[in-house]
Amino acid sequence: MEKERVLITGAAGFLGSHLSDRFLKEGYHVIGMDNLITGSKKNIEHLLPRDDFEFHHHDVTKFVHVPGDVKYILHFASPASPIDYLKIPIQTLKVGALGTHNLLGLAKEKNARMLIASTSEVYGDPLVHPQTEEYWGNVNPIGPRGVYDEAKRFQEAITMAYNRYHGVETRIIRIFNTYGPRMRLDDGRALPAFMSQALKNEPITVFGDGSQTRSFCYVDDLVEGIYRLLLSDYDHPVNIGNPSEITIKQFAEEVVDLIDSKSTISYHPLPKDDPKQRKPDITKAKEILNWKPEVDRKEGLKRTLEHFQTLPEFKS
Ligand code: UDP
Repeated sequence: MEKERVLITGAAGFLGSHLSDRFLKEGYHVIGMDNLITGSKKNIEHLLPRDDFEFHHHDVTKFVHVPGDVKYILHFASPASPIDYLKIPIQTLKVGALGTHNLLGLAKEKNARMLIASTSEVYGDPLVHPQTEEYWGNVNPIGPRGVYDEAKRFQEAITMAYNRYHGVETRIIRIFNTYGPRMRLDDGRALPAFMSQALKNEPITVFGDGSQTRSFCYVDDLVEGIYRLLLSDYDHPVNIGNPSEITIKQFAEEVVDLIDSKSTISYHPLPKDDPKQRKPDITKAKEILNWKPEVDRKEGLKRTLEHFQTLPEFKS
């Protein structure tokens, strides 16, 4: 029997590569698409020789063509770290807006179900805590993060429009901070920054006074949530994240302790519009998907560290 085919955009990125692994494991044929501006072929090197994986080097902001049937489309292409979207703001807006439009058109054409990767950033610097899916957010449209936040908000809007007006089957996941193997070391996000600094016994760069909070989810838990949401019949947004909330200063200390590093904390100015707090309300995911995170931070950080230690930069 022919395998069912799944298109994953951003397949060479952190999340896209883990999703590709998962869908291959579930017996699908995976078409991985990426323009490699923030993704890396290294993340999918192990998949390239397989017959059930094909890689398309393509920018989804241009017309997307895929021959043959497609059952599912997962749109995960986007710069996703604050320093990336500051460096490439126009591409960030385009992939969320034009890229999503092209892929929804493809979903309509192929009669495919499409899942989009939205984000906790749609809540901006939230005035409601923890964040429920009903909260509409507090986003500065013209601030430096606006290019990402508003692209993702537009993405949700156009996805619901295709759902309502064209009958396309859609799913929307709002992803909270996620970490794990294959995060880019230089993407500027807290975890890869802290881990590489701690491994090199360099100062840990905490922005602001470190009292801002985040809630970090291990990548395998996120992938499980995505898989369940895709197969569910629920088409409104669902938060997926780990509600275990921690200040950034505590997070830095946990990383230093884990590595038994000599690093000390050095404080730097807080970037503009950096959200003060973030924690998902995951009641919906629990009720609708019977999902909750299984990997606690201690275990997740250990697994991530083991991955980073295999990188040439840190091999002793
Ligand atoms: N952060 C930090 N030092 C770093 C990188 C990030 O203190 O070297 C802070 C950042 O200001 C934010 C939190 O850690 O408050 C999480 O940042 P990240 O870029 O990982 O994700 P996001 O802000 O999108 O949640």
